[in-house]
Amino acid sequence: MKTLLVAAGPTRERIDPVRFISNRSTGAFGYEIAGEARRRGFKVVLVSGPTILKPPAGVRLIKVETALEMRSAFLKEFKKADSAVMAAAVSDWRVRTPAMSKIKKAGGCRSLELVENPDILAEAGRRKGNRLLVGFALETEALEANARGKLKAKNLDIVVANKLSTAKDVFGSGKTDVLIIDRSGRKVALRNKSKREIAKKIIEKIIS
Ligand code: C5P
Repeated sequence: MKTLLVAAGPTRERIDPVRFISNRSTGAFGYEIAGEARRRGFKVVLVSGPTILKPPAGVRLIKVETALEMRSAFLKEFKKADSAVMAAAVSDWRVRTPAMSKIKKAGGCRSLELVENPDILAEAGRRKGNRLLVGFALETEALEANARGKLKAKNLDIVVANKLSTAKDVFGSGKTDVLIIDRSGRKVALRNKSKREIAKKIIEKIIS
């Protein structure tokens, strides 16, 4: 049985014990991909940031919170996997020094010092060996050119490009348009499709 690793959902970067920086990812894409892979007979490991979604039946769920936690879980499981899909919305930055206790309002308006998070997908790309690696590219402009750039720069086999026109289109459960581009340059355009339908195409592409 082939093992597929999927990462999904947002990450949360702690500011203090009650506050964090995050994004609007719901995890829906990754969870659909994990569920479809399981139905197609893969052994599935799902590394997930915080979400209210229920994990698909039969997948091994590893819950993480921060980008650094996601990185260690993902890279550890990647060694044992045959292929991986990085569908998580990893926060590009984290707070340099999260506070140990709740920051008081009385302290006045503050600024946060941010540091860049590691690019998990790019790291996986550098150590992928014979594994098949799939990434996402969420773009507001020059969709195809940027997606092809990421495919090369991160050493991917497949990139799923998603145009962000209004945030409503891509986050959550609605229908969306994507371009699936592979290493050899082949491209498939899917229009107004549900995430489940797109997940099916991605898994078919991985299988073929
Ligand atoms: O470069 P960009 O963030 O647009 O690339 C998107 C792809 O890279 C997605 O598959 C996303 O999950 C992944 N990524 C990552 N680690 C980061 C940022 C993005 O794995 N720190």
